[in-house]
Amino acid sequence: MDFGLSGKWALVGGASKGLGLGCATALAGEGVNVVIVARGGELLEKAAAELRASSGVQVQPIAVDITTPEGRAAVFAFRKDFDIVVTNAGGPPPGDFRDWDRDAWIKAVDANMITPIELIKATIDGMAARGFGRIVNITSSSVKSPIEALGLSNGARSGLTGFVAGVARSAVAAKGVTINNLLPGSFDTDRIRSNMANAAQKAGTDVESIVEKRRQSIPARRMGTAQEFGEICAFLCSQQAAYLNGQNILADGGAYPGTY
Ligand code: NAP
Repeated sequence: MDFGLSGKWALVGGASKGLGLGCATALAGEGVNVVIVARGGELLEKAAAELRASSGVQVQPIAVDITTPEGRAAVFAFRKDFDIVVTNAGGPPPGDFRDWDRDAWIKAVDANMITPIELIKATIDGMAARGFGRIVNITSSSVKSPIEALGLSNGARSGLTGFVAGVARSAVAAKGVTINNLLPGSFDTDRIRSNMANAAQKAGTDVESIVEKRRQSIPARRMGTAQEFGEICAFLCSQQAAYLNGQNILADGGAYPGTY
């Protein structure tokens, strides 16, 4: 299926590895030029070179912290008129809410709620004026089913979800702009490995038994791959997904037990 995205420009946050890179790869495979962002320049340059080689599209790496105003300014100094924006950065650390002070909360809200809102604010009116726009926020299954140790994520991302529910249904919806959230369950990336290492340490066991326990808790009996996550993201950005708006799409191998 041709997603009708060839020649468009996408901004993908947190894209030197993991889910963000999965999204950038799938979009580049559809002929989309991509700006990829991460803090660490070396891995980002490597990812950019591989993307260029595999897809032939224009790839611009920008090594900044997307959660800062300076980082976002550097991105928009390169280009303002993105057709597609995939918001993503690192998730907040696990822990016990009794240990989190105001600064910990501000940092989580800044990264996982305010940063996506700022990116939406900077791009959405241009998209509406041009008659096409796709915004995909990488959030988490924790929005639907909270994860006890990830209270910062449960809270901050729920705030973003509430905001998106409103703006997705605003006047931009009639101008060809959609905003959806893509909710990862368990995907095999560095982030989930480090969360599991943390859980293993807490439980006094090894990482492999935590990974196996997780696999057994998922109906698909495996973790997802960044590639399949990216392909769902590319579909949400496609011309075909024009009537899919304001949704929370859970990609979790069936782990969420609810009927709706
Ligand atoms: P990952 O493998 O750790 O990759 C994170 C990417 O984001 C890296 O490229 C990292 O590069 C970049 N990044 C982190 N902080 C950044 C910042 N402040 N500014 C710019 N780039 C930044 O993580 P992932 O598993 O792909 O997860 C992506 C998001 O999905 C996270 O928010 C995570 O919490 C969420 N999530 C993941 C899962 C899962 O199963 N993997 C499940 C639920 C939710 P640098 O460190 O060099 O900046």
